[in-house]
Amino acid sequence: MTRLAQRTQRIDASGIRRVFDLARSLKNPINLSIGQPDFDVPDAVKKAAHAAIDDGHNSYTPTQGIAPLRTQLLAEEKTFTGRNWKEEELLITSGVSGGLFLALLALVEDGDEVIIPDPYFVMYKHLVRLFGGIPVYLDTYDADFGINPDRLASLITPRTKAVLINSPANPTGRILSRDELTDIAVVCREQDTLVISDEIYRHFAYTEMVSMAEVYENTLLLAGHSKAFGMTGWRLGYACGPADIIKAMTMAQQYSFVCAPAVTQYAALACPQVELSPYIQDYRVKRDLMTGILGEHFQLAPPDGAFYLWAEAPEGHTGTSFVEKAIANNMLIIPGNVFSERDTHFRICYTVPDEKLRQGAELLCRIAAE
Ligand code: PMP
Repeated sequence: MTRLAQRTQRIDASGIRRVFDLARSLKNPINLSIGQPDFDVPDAVKKAAHAAIDDGHNSYTPTQGIAPLRTQLLAEEKTFTGRNWKEEELLITSGVSGGLFLALLALVEDGDEVIIPDPYFVMYKHLVRLFGGIPVYLDTYDADFGINPDRLASLITPRTKAVLINSPANPTGRILSRDELTDIAVVCREQDTLVISDEIYRHFAYTEMVSMAEVYENTLLLAGHSKAFGMTGWRLGYACGPADIIKAMTMAQQYSFVCAPAVTQYAALACPQVELSPYIQDYRVKRDLMTGILGEHFQLAPPDGAFYLWAEAPEGHTGTSFVEKAIANNMLIIPGNVFSERDTHFRICYTVPDEKLRQGAELLCRIAAE
């Protein structure tokens, strides 16, 4: 048998796989595990995709992305971050996943450390490991899931390649405030440490959302269209950051993804026509519904953004044992140890119809009290 590369041994999908295997065994469960919006791609964007296909925009695009979308994104990022990004500071990618993959491929060498606040989006640690790096976890449980700057400072070593933050966060829903980001910037500025800022949920903010790039110059910003426009399958995102990193990522994209999907890039030209506020308002209402019911029974992380709640398992339970109990009651949520070195919490995703949400929340309260 052909021997696989050693790097494949450094990653695994066991945690998530176990949950999805369990999901398959349930019939019509209350499923609060999904992790993507429940709305479809807005009509204007669908129409633009159809037109792109009919107009023959079906070939490769330049590796860095099509010119009109680049112009659009540079303008949007100027508004959002207040920075005058240059052409050579932008790369259009296949989703934020594509951006993360290329960034870590371009940056991480054997033994390099990447600081990852815990809890984390599960892809981070696996990609760091895949490229030979070492994930260094920054515990946030005692900081209300924010970042304690002294702890961050204590973790930075000569091997630190980057700090990888995510706000609004998956799985906690936490948004790092301007003051918190400024504290991170002060610490990172000392050694000019790069911050990779995953802002995929930036539109789903129920409180002020500030980009790390606004407060810290050495930021590689990753953002994308998957969540805001309900197009997770269309694979579009982008990276804005230091020109030398973008250049290396572009080269790696040329020899891997080649370009982000052409049709999707053309379709995204219609995204500015979409009024996002009704979608955000809808999720804000869902968040309020859930926190209203769950708040009395569970300790919740500040539900500032994205579409997740991060709840502590009731006394006597680990995250996993509580999730097993939920599954025995035909409900699917995700145990905290999928996203964390701890197993004390669980993640709820509230992108489901209100009636299901209410049922789910009441069921959780009931089984917590049993
Ligand atoms: N970052 C975070 C925090 C996410 O939750 C996700 C998707 N679940 C991604 C990145 C990847 O998104 P994309 O569809 O843009 O690859």
